[in-house]
Amino acid sequence: MKETGFVLDERYTHHDTGAGHPERAQRIEVLLPVFAERPGLRRVAPRAATGDEITLVHDDGHFEAVASTRGVAHGAFDGDTPFSAESFDTATLAAGGLLEVLDQVMAGELGNGFAMVRPPGHHAERARAMGFCLFNNAAIGAAYLRAKFGLQRILVMDWDVHHGNGTQHSFYSDPGVLYMSTHRYPFYPGTGAIDEVGRGDGTGFTVNVPFPGGFGDVEYAAAFESVIAPIAEEFAPEFVIISAGFDPHARDPLGGMAVTEAGFARMARSLLGVADRCCDGRAVAVLEGGYDLTAIRDSSAAVMAQLLRSDVDIPGVTGESRAAPIIEAVRKVQGEYWKGI
Ligand SMILES: [Zn+2]
Repeated sequence: MKETGFVLDERYTHHDTGAGHPERAQRIEVLLPVFAERPGLRRVAPRAATGDEITLVHDDGHFEAVASTRGVAHGAFDGDTPFSAESFDTATLAAGGLLEVLDQVMAGELGNGFAMVRPPGHHAERARAMGFCLFNNAAIGAAYLRAKFGLQRILVMDWDVHHGNGTQHSFYSDPGVLYMSTHRYPFYPGTGAIDEVGRGDGTGFTVNVPFPGGFGDVEYAAAFESVIAPIAEEFAPEFVIISAGFDPHARDPLGGMAVTEAGFARMARSLLGVADRCCDGRAVAVLEGGYDLTAIRDSSAAVMAQLLRSDVDIPGVTGESRAAPIIEAVRKVQGEYWKGI
């Protein structure tokens, strides 16, 4: 069986968001001692993404705006998105770290992988930084797979507690990238309603499953079983990118949800099953949010165990799902585009 690759590098701590900011260097520091090379798990050295790669998704003005912060000690793109002297270099290394894993999976050198990078990406829009995010790593990854390898069906599944507005908008009219998201709603950033389904040729290729606060493993499992996995499988992706935010975790200070490590493991296993059946297992996770250090560490390890295909048992979910009315509403809207739900 092919190895799993991981990107994790001390340089991801160099983006300094200032005192008291939840998206902080310790999010990487807590992971550094946990993951090391061992049989089946290979460290992948990140590289900086180039301007040409980043502008597959962002406009030149945004790339230049972030580049111009290089060496500037402190500043901010908006109220919650600060930068420091090394933010640009860290952000290009974050996007490039993901691209390096994608390259190695496409080359058949790795089976799958996990890019544990910061700053996160899914709120970054074509023309601006937003919500702790400078460049949209997952969107750049999907665009890169298409540009370099000619892939025509890429799935981006985003389980961060916040809706990935930037990723959704990057491919809103585009049937080649299926963007699916489970997220808290209404909540930051305000997008992600059930009826946001894409537009033009992209209609039906955006799937939003908005949850109220407090939902946990049983509701997420129900959503994956009823709509996420069936639609993903019908789409038949050639590659699966997972926007893995760990802020739906019960311990997270911002998310207000109740997912556990086992819940993330279950979601990963579901998506890896889709990848196995559709694209020879090609799947790469990229870290998004998650602000409780213990939760990030333990949830990352739980997802990694799934990528490694270990036989770790995932305990069954118990309790009654409160998600049925939402799932039914998603089914009603998306059933127009997807026969399998
Ligand atoms: Zn988030």
